[in-house]
Amino acid sequence: MVTVDVRRCAYCGSCVSVCPVNALDLQETRLVVSEGCIECNLCLLACPMGALLPAGEQPKPSPALREQYDVVVIGAGPAGSVAAWEAAGQGLAVLLLEKRQEIGSPVRCAEGIAHQALADFITPDERWISAHVCKARITMVEDGQEQTWESEALPEGAASAGVGYILERRVFDRVLAEQAALAGARVLVKTAATGLLREGQKVVGVRAQGPWGERDIAARVVIGADGVESRAGMWAGLDTTLPSSDLMTCAQFLLTGVEVDPQCTYYYLDRQAVPGGYAWIFPKGEGRANVGLGIQADLATTSPVEALTRFVESRPFLARGSMVTLIVGGVPVGLPPSPLVTDGFMLVGDAARQVDPLTGGGIANGMAAGRLAARVAAKAIASDDVSRRALSQYEQEWARGIGRQMARNYRLRARFPPEQRVGERFLHLFAMTIGAGK
Ligand SMILES: Cc1cc2nc3c(=O)[nH]c(=O)nc-3n(C[C@H](O)[C@H](O)[C@H](O)COP(=O)(O)OP(=O)(O)OC[C@H]3O[C@@H](n4cnc5c(N)ncnc54)[C@H](O)[C@@H]3O)c2cc1C
Ligand code: SF4
Ligand code: SF4
Repeated sequence: MVTVDVRRCAYCGSCVSVCPVNALDLQETRLVVSEGCIECNLCLLACPMGALLPAGEQPKPSPALREQYDVVVIGAGPAGSVAAWEAAGQGLAVLLLEKRQEIGSPVRCAEGIAHQALADFITPDERWISAHVCKARITMVEDGQEQTWESEALPEGAASAGVGYILERRVFDRVLAEQAALAGARVLVKTAATGLLREGQKVVGVRAQGPWGERDIAARVVIGADGVESRAGMWAGLDTTLPSSDLMTCAQFLLTGVEVDPQCTYYYLDRQAVPGGYAWIFPKGEGRANVGLGIQADLATTSPVEALTRFVESRPFLARGSMVTLIVGGVPVGLPPSPLVTDGFMLVGDAARQVDPLTGGGIANGMAAGRLAARVAAKAIASDDVSRRALSQYEQEWARGIGRQMARNYRLRARFPPEQRVGERFLHLFAMTIGAGK
């Protein structure tokens, strides 16, 4: 019977179409070979990945990689790609590892970002922008009664968090990884970090598993940018566990055929239907919109998917649309753990819980953390001191900058517990946080 190398299989289904005895079954992200296989080997010829092996054959050797990199980055989301881009731009030898086969997909994001936060990193480009937004509408729902407030439209490019874009992250994330590659970083997809290499307490590299098998890769500094599902921090001995009160559990539909103002972001504060969080409608142009909600995990009495279905069905302008994508995900809304570094290791982005505790926005924070970490890593490598003490400059600078704003928003979140998120005062606060003023 042929065997499937699951690290290599890209779930394309090509092999299934040539099997004469129907012995292959593609179950979305799992290819199953049944006992009925007659070992005709036709599927081996059809596989573009070389993922099917005759019995007893071993996987192919790994690609040519250096023995040692200055920096290995785990995860090619915005935080990891910007870290790799910055580090490579500083002349370091950089390897960027991404476990998915396609950077940026599947999208787990509502894709909103402020102009000023984005333009600091990359010139906005229509290739990865779905919509330009300049105003916000906030609806407070209390016992079925709705009270709506709408901001004034602000001019394009204004220095306000309310002016910005709804991205096409599928393209945006890839462009950031391409920038890292153009700056000289080596990018590997379908390659997961499975652990860290240690010398005593010091991190000295990563163990990576790719289509070619498992391999140890040495690094002066490892940057963990592996998102909300991060394990890199824990491997390094940092405590990244989240209490469920600091996690928003989210669902989102991409709806098409809906009538929304293409320049307006919509927010719904409804403590009964969306406890501890909010629902959003972000326009994507051409009658499309990201429609989602996030519920504070410890308060969830129903799954976000069910709550979202009810939210959509109860609003005719949404209910007449069609759902073309369903995504689900978690957003950390606590504070970053401390420390964020250890000898030879740094943590950035969602992995470091660097998401705004009130809005749940993490793209810009992740990019800022990635850049800052890479700059500190470059300095530490140049002075041949990658100790925790040297790398902690990253943590200190973070705490003085965005970390301070995060701490303020975390305190505000605590001051307004979910049952008190009603009325003028909270509306005012929420409007300020999303950059819409009031
Ligand atoms: C429903 C939802 C809506 C959101 N809406 C917004 C919004 O509108 N605006 C906003 O700013 N933020 C939003 N966020 C948050 C935002 O998506 C994240 O903050 C942002 O993506 C964090 O970037 P990151 O690079 O840290 O992590 P990610 O983008 O999650 O990237 C981490 C990468 O690491 C890879 N990885 C994981 N483990 C490994 C491993 N072992 N080896 C190799 N690779 C690995 C993953 O595959 C992934 O590609 C939303 C999140 C959700 C869930
Ligand atoms: S070896 Fe032949 S019978 Fe077996 S799974 Fe492949 S195509 Fe089907
Ligand atoms: S052809 Fe190869 S890559 Fe495609 S599903 Fe079959 S085994 Fe996987």
